[in-house]
Amino acid sequence: MKEHMRRFEKEKKIALIAHDNKKKDLIEWATYNKKALSKHTLVATGTTGKLIEKALDRKIKKVLSGPLGGDQQIGAMIASGDIDIIFFFFDPMEAQPHDSDVKALLRLAVAWNLPMACDRTTADFLITSKFMQEVYEYRLPDYTHYLTRNIEQS
Ligand code: PGA
Repeated sequence: MKEHMRRFEKEKKIALIAHDNKKKDLIEWATYNKKALSKHTLVATGTTGKLIEKALDRKIKKVLSGPLGGDQQIGAMIASGDIDIIFFFFDPMEAQPHDSDVKALLRLAVAWNLPMACDRTTADFLITSKFMQEVYEYRLPDYTHYLTRNIEQS
């Protein structure tokens, strides 16, 4: 594989997160897409994960609840290449106690050029993409310039 390239295998590593007002939406969506999701590995924040397990009748990996550090755990998994795709139904109408974590997660997903759906319509487009069934190789942003920047020492 070329430098700055990363690949998603056929079986994708998917993160699922929903704020409380969006959990119903995500659960309905996941139930409708149960068959498509069955081909992939799922990880979710604590409360979302419990609901997903019940709805899909399968055990999945759960991290902590979002406000207790779960969003940051997902963020760390993004940075270490352990997540390929994110379905994050966040609530645009209500401030969250962990707004800074939410923002950090959104930022990291973009920093690593990952596909992310934040609403149901985008989630429909993403889950039906032909790339969900295939190996997909993509270009990582090149951070060499940043990593080799000159830091002046006084
Ligand atoms: P939860 O966390 O699934 O534990 O509710 C979601 C979030 O708010 O990040």
